[in-house]
Amino acid sequence: MTDRKELQDAASVTILAIGYRARCTAPVCGNLARAILRYADRGGRPLADLERCNRHAREASERDTKAGLTIYDDRDPPPTSPGHLL
Ligand SMILES: [Zn+2]
Repeated sequence: MTDRKELQDAASVTILAIGYRARCTAPVCGNLARAILRYADRGGRPLADLERCNRHAREASERDTKAGLTIYDDRDPPPTSPGHLL
């Protein structure tokens, strides 16, 4: 289940580090985007790039995993873990 009609044909999602400042494009979010979710069809043709904050990137990848999409995470690991801040 994805939030755009043209993504119904999506077979895979690649999570990419974002190289520019953008807002998360999830509805009613507006946080700083931290990743790009690049949806592609079975032939590997890109369908859409969605800017997403950390939370929405994680939620989307969990949802897309359940929907049967293949997830590729191409982000570099963060230099320090933010876990102790939570
Ligand atoms: Zn968001």
